Amino acid sequence: MATYKAPRGTHDIYGKMALGLEKLDSISRQIFKKHNFKEVITPIFEEASLFTRSIGEATDIVEKEMYVFEDRKGRKLALRPEGTASLVRAYIEHRFDMTEPIGKFFYSGEMFRYERPQAGRYRQFSQMGAEYLANPNPNADAEIILVAKEILSALNIKDIKIHLNSLGCAGCRAEFRKKLVDYFSSVSDLCEDCKRRLEKNPLRLLDCKIDSSKFQNVPSMKECLCGECSDHFSQVQTLLKSVGCDYIVDDKLVRGLDYYTRTVFEVRSSSVGSQDALCAGGRYDNLVKELGGQQIPSVGFALGCERVLMACEQNGFFETVKTDDVVFIAVADEDLFPQAFTFANELMLNNNNIRKNIELSENITIEGPFLNKSLKSQFKLADKLGAKKTVVFGRNEFNNGKIIIKDMTVQEQKEISLPDFIMERIKNLDTSGFKMSAYAEK
Ligand code: AMP
Repeated sequence: MATYKAPRGTHDIYGKMALGLEKLDSISRQIFKKHNFKEVITPIFEEASLFTRSIGEATDIVEKEMYVFEDRKGRKLALRPEGTASLVRAYIEHRFDMTEPIGKFFYSGEMFRYERPQAGRYRQFSQMGAEYLANPNPNADAEIILVAKEILSALNIKDIKIHLNSLGCAGCRAEFRKKLVDYFSSVSDLCEDCKRRLEKNPLRLLDCKIDSSKFQNVPSMKECLCGECSDHFSQVQTLLKSVGCDYIVDDKLVRGLDYYTRTVFEVRSSSVGSQDALCAGGRYDNLVKELGGQQIPSVGFALGCERVLMACEQNGFFETVKTDDVVFIAVADEDLFPQAFTFANELMLNNNNIRKNIELSENITIEGPFLNKSLKSQFKLADKLGAKKTVVFGRNEFNNGKIIIKDMTVQEQKEISLPDFIMERIKNLDTSGFKMSAYAEK
């Protein structure tokens, strides 16, 4: 029994999940870069008020999910629960509006929310996100949605549905809010959270997990959109249609963060259970100003890496995650250990002359040599590691300037001459300080 376990809601990522995450990261990066998004790496913690102010006081995240702590000087800090607020803070702090002709950025990293853990919902999780700042036009919304879709398609996740809605501007929201307060005031037995939200933030009632099934004929945001917001929304849709991107207009979609204006969206997959949102985002036209910058209308999304990988488990993605071929370096005569060690190091340094000479490709994993193992145990280990080739240093061959290369898949071996320059190097090694007897196999 292990004495310590990872804290509740956190998990260790290893094995195929770690490889999957690496591949997801590299695929997303390629797509972000193709669309000209530039990476910004922000700290994992920020002043707590950055999040309170941007995400909103009356949201689940701020009310009950933030990891807030004081540092030794009494500063109130929080582990970041999401990436947009930090990115916007960096944008304002470094005056990206002056230096970046187009405000396209991406980020990736861990987020922290004190949520009730379940499959697909953790207290520490990873997101990759893109933000398109300083573009108020519907093409920015459409591009953000298409980037998210492109990543999921590149991962071969087929059963996705894009849910789309518009939350309008402050004017539309005020009208909607009034209608919602009228409507919800007549609903009996609201849960405690909803009773509180009815005063502070009635929009939040729409995605209450407890009460939402009780709501029939709830007023729709669509009826409250002003002319400009309505046009913006239909233009986003026209652009999506023009590139053949399917979506569902979902007027119940309100999202859990207060800063959204106009477009909001969520990409869901039926293959991951109840936590089905793989990725979500929307427009936040007032956030930059709210955090102390100019009025800079913007739009972005974040994708939850763990959930995306859960969806990938169903579609054979992990079988496509290839690791490099293992080449194992073995010593038949332990006196040749320093020579084999030096040879392995040359291979590590990507010495193409050697690699070509012994028919190895560019991308290989090199393992060995081991001091305390018989040749038999070394071959067993090479097998366990799935080595494609084993290089053996034997005395007779080495005296003739050669090594043995065993192809582990067909179990055939041949002798190969080492290039002169490496032979010169390892032939003259001073091994006098190396005592083999100290490492005999137990
Ligand atoms: P949000 O920042 O809430 O808009 O979430 C964006 C995406 O992050 C969601 O669609 C999920 O895929 C993922 N996500 C959010 N919260 C969690 C969590 N607690 N655990 C795992 N993934 C999450």
